[in-house]
Amino acid sequence: MPAGKCCGLAPFLLPYFVLEFVIHTLSSGAPMETVWTQQRIEALTNLWGDGLSTAEIGRRLGITKNAVVGKAHRLSLSPRPSPVKASSIPRVKIKPASKVVEMSGPSCSWPSGHPGEKGFHFCGARAMHGKPYCPEHAALAYVRPKSQSSNAA
Ligand SMILES: [Zn+2]
Repeated sequence: MPAGKCCGLAPFLLPYFVLEFVIHTLSSGAPMETVWTQQRIEALTNLWGDGLSTAEIGRRLGITKNAVVGKAHRLSLSPRPSPVKASSIPRVKIKPASKVVEMSGPSCSWPSGHPGEKGFHFCGARAMHGKPYCPEHAALAYVRPKSQSSNAA
């Protein structure tokens, strides 16, 4: 290479496609292209449909796994059959992270409703100074009537 001491671009860079061709030719000592006879294509299609692994198909056809994958792709064969079909997987709607209530903020963090249920939220009213709740909820929080105990019965 006439790049000399310059570590920058070689002055005589080959066009990219030529370079790629050369690299491809050099790197594959094996026959450059798999010859896809009609027979082979049919065999591939059948084996593919049977759910054989690409490596196994390649072994049977005497070609590389990559050739199998590449050809299958070109033939637009359906993606590898798998026990769980993608279409049968129920789409799980991922809820956006539950509303984050700024606990350190001045808003009341008294929970309203039952956690996990629809409509559950935090009060959000202006909290008392130094307390996580608004005056109304602070009263509830710090003065728990014993009559509400479930053990009352
Ligand atoms: Zn409140």
